Amino acid sequence: MADDADRAQEMIERTLEEAIRVARGPGRSLRGTHCQDCGDALAPHRRPYGRCIECQERAEHRATRYPRAGDPRG
Ligand SMILES: [Zn+2]
Repeated sequence: MADDADRAQEMIERTLEEAIRVARGPGRSLRGTHCQDCGDALAPHRRPYGRCIECQERAEHRATRYPRAGDPRG
């Protein structure tokens, strides 16, 4: 009985740690490292925007010319 409870507790803790690691880690370190439009690697200062400067400018240009067709993500 005690063994089962210990194993269950250990499994819960490992699962929880894994879930926390997944929730924290890749979300920040992987997402946004590449342009969502052209796939180029982004400089660190561009990562919050999710786009390289060229695609960002293109998106802004598009939004200016066709406001209703603007990218909802940008
Ligand atoms: Zn791009």
